[in-house]
Amino acid sequence: MGRIVQKYGGTSVGTVERIQAVAQRVYQTAQAGYSVVVVVSAMGKTTDGLVKLAHEISTRPCRREMDVLLSTGEQISIALLSMALQELGQPAISLTGAQVGIVTEAAHTRARILHIATDRLDRHLSEGKVVVVAGFQGISNTPDREVTTLGRGGSDTSAVALAAALRADLCEIYTDVPGILTTDPRLIPNAQLMAEITCDEMLELASLGAKVLHPRAVEIARNYGVQMVVRSSWTDEPGTRVMAPGIPPRSLQDLELGRPVDAVHFDLDQAKVALLRVEDRPGIAAYLFGELSKQRVDVDLIIQSIHDGNTNDIAFTVARQTVNRAEAVAAAYSPLLQSAGSLEQPEVMVARDVAKVSIVGAGIIGRPQVAAQMFKTLSDLGINIQMISTSEVNVSCTIPAGECDRAVAALCAAFEVNNSPIAKALASTPDAPPVRGVALDLKQARLAIRHVPDRPGMAAQIFQALADRNISVDMIIQSQRSRQVNGLITRDIAFTVAEADLALSQSTLLQVSAQLGCGEVTTDAQVAKVSIVGVGMLGRPGVAAHMFAALAQEQINIQMIATSEIRVSCVVAADQGVAALQAVHAAFGLGQRHS
Ligand code: ADP
Ligand code: ASP
Ligand code: MG
Repeated sequence: MGRIVQKYGGTSVGTVERIQAVAQRVYQTAQAGYSVVVVVSAMGKTTDGLVKLAHEISTRPCRREMDVLLSTGEQISIALLSMALQELGQPAISLTGAQVGIVTEAAHTRARILHIATDRLDRHLSEGKVVVVAGFQGISNTPDREVTTLGRGGSDTSAVALAAALRADLCEIYTDVPGILTTDPRLIPNAQLMAEITCDEMLELASLGAKVLHPRAVEIARNYGVQMVVRSSWTDEPGTRVMAPGIPPRSLQDLELGRPVDAVHFDLDQAKVALLRVEDRPGIAAYLFGELSKQRVDVDLIIQSIHDGNTNDIAFTVARQTVNRAEAVAAAYSPLLQSAGSLEQPEVMVARDVAKVSIVGAGIIGRPQVAAQMFKTLSDLGINIQMISTSEVNVSCTIPAGECDRAVAALCAAFEVNNSPIAKALASTPDAPPVRGVALDLKQARLAIRHVPDRPGMAAQIFQALADRNISVDMIIQSQRSRQVNGLITRDIAFTVAEADLALSQSTLLQVSAQLGCGEVTTDAQVAKVSIVGVGMLGRPGVAAHMFAALAQEQINIQMIATSEIRVSCVVAADQGVAALQAVHAAFGLGQRHS
């Protein structure tokens, strides 16, 4: 008999009527002959209410007590759903995370799952019962067996982890939207439902602000090949299939803590072009990358960061055989990109012998230590990192080509991966659209640290200090322009973090800056990040340019740009975030036409 795990989110079990409707659906699935494990969230906004209560008592409530408090929400809904099933004549039993044996690490309010005991679940299923499990919670692997929670939105992760542990045929995530849409329908009502999406694309979207799935749930689905569907708990529509790669069976021990990096990749066929001191106004990036795409230059990494008020640096990498064309375009257009206030034309710098080395793995997500370890490994070899590009599943650095072999060998040793295939980690499918979905993250802040001495090890130390405080960093950008300060060549490093981490990031950077002899630390909490994601953009020139043009048309200035293979993210002013999302969504034709 097949096994199904179904997960119902807060809105889906928000009232007694909704719980009864969910019970009906579960009952029908059981009647159809499946063994069903149901995971539920707390009713409606219960968890938000509990958080609010805690903050009325304490400004910094103890994490352990938060877990004791927040885990109660799910305990209510499992009992009620189990009663509702029994009312329908369906044998059912509710179990908390501890009763199941969902064993986690002890990190309160953000625990990762280590192991799930399946014996009790198996027993109840074989008795013909539906088992209703509390989402979002577990029990620590420490002697005191503490109650833990997985982090907000974590019931998705409970469900997929249970599906992996039970080797279920399917994990269905029931929610309040018809499935995964091209963007958040609360912001863009004509967003369209997708029939399918790959795990890699969904990992990016989830971590870039599409909260329809918890990113760690997608990580588990990807690592264990769990078949997942996201659909509405109100209708019988099929929803969206999240396509997991076919992968060899993997140990269920240390479920969420397995090796974070699956592979080290390198690409020796890269060259870098940088334009220094281009004008900081809407349309500049659109213009430059539009011209490059007209010349069929496929741009790989792109970074742009604000510099000294009214000018930017833009740098990008291209395949080596197109570097002359790219340089010609940059040189031809650079006079037109000059800032009105500047006396000099933008400078074009070309590095022809560049290698890109990348670490790839779904486990990079939410683990700032991993990127820090990569920077440390390179710095221990005395290798200076030229460009950094990060995403949830990938950290890439460009380095001098001559250093590539040493770098790859050391990274393989550091992350205990044997092979270093040159093949692309991500394969596009012929029918994949260039952009699958668009996401907006309004809870972002930007930090910059000025005048960082340009020598190996600086990025390693800065990001290690942040990682030690568990701060995840995105969009790391090193300026291309260097400046002499007290006889030392220095560069600026800018990056984004979650707004909630801003204060801690700032104080950390101030300490690091003093230790390393860097300059000022600047911050901006009024930023938003808008991103496009799609495997179909691989090897298709012009996708980034099209995004930049859409923003330019709305007179939206791009403050930072960062890309990975399957996404492009732009930082814009917070109050332009929604307009930026709308412009980009429309530009790629993602909205429904009839509405
Ligand atoms: P649940 O309580 O069922 O877990 P969530 O509120 O966590 O539901 O997630 C569903 C919500 O995610 C939707 O109501 C929608 O507003 C939001 N969302 C954001 N981005 C997307 C997207 N790309 N597709 C669908 N929903 C999205
Ligand atoms: N109830 C928890 C929350 O609101 C977990 C979840 O719903 O996924 O974050
Ligand atoms: Mg959710």
